[in-house]
This record gives sequence, C-alpha cells and structure tokens, in this order.
Amino acid sequence: MPNEYISPARRKFYKSAGWKKTRDSYWSYRHGICERCGGLGTQVHHKIYLTDGNLQDPDISLNWDNLELLCDKCHAEEHHGGGFQTADGLRFNEEGELIKCQEQEAEKKKDGVPTT
Ligand SMILES: [Zn+2]
Ligand SMILES: [Zn+2]
Repeated sequence: MPNEYISPARRKFYKSAGWKKTRDSYWSYRHGICERCGGLGTQVHHKIYLTDGNLQDPDISLNWDNLELLCDKCHAEEHHGGGFQTADGLRFNEEGELIKCQEQEAEKKKDGVPTT
C-alpha cells in the first residue's frame, strides 16, 4: 500500500518549526476552509507529494503554490482514492497515516494547530 510508510525524514519535517509556521499561515490564509468542498479544512496537502528527496527543497515543501488546504475527507480521497472508508474512531492524519481520533486531537493540542 502506498503512503502507509512514513520515513523518519518526513516525520521530522512535519514536526519542524518551519513547516508548522508555513502550515498555520496557509491555514489562516485559506480561512480554514477546504479548497475542494468548502468544508472544514484540517490538512495542508502537498500537491507535489513530499518525498525524502524533495522535502529539503523549500520550493516544494514550504511553497504555498504547492499547498492545498483540505478537509479530512478530501485529503483521504486524494491519497487513497474514492471509496475509502474508515471504521468509527479512525481517520487519516496529515501524513496519510490511519490513526485514532483521540491521538490526532492530542497531536493537535501539542502542535498548536488552530481548531476553530
Ligand atoms: Zn473537502
Ligand atoms: Zn496530502
């Protein structure tokens, strides 16, 4: 399955101050609205998917032109295609990992992502 494995380099990137700042600024710029369906935007997606090879390149990893604010549903469809379903209490996080809702809530608090 693609996108199931998140490399340490990508994990580290997603926890970096530079990414968090970019992500939060972009989220505010989009008013927290999903760019595809107008729903609640929760995930800042990279149009050119991040890889270990390009995440050090700010023109890709931190470039607003390469970002898209999506809701959980649209982001999951982007990464996993149509017809995707999760069991109750499960969702995909920013890195495309399937996690429990409580874990993501805890992560959000820790990361200081706006929740309104
Ligand atoms: Zn959406
Ligand atoms: Zn994405």
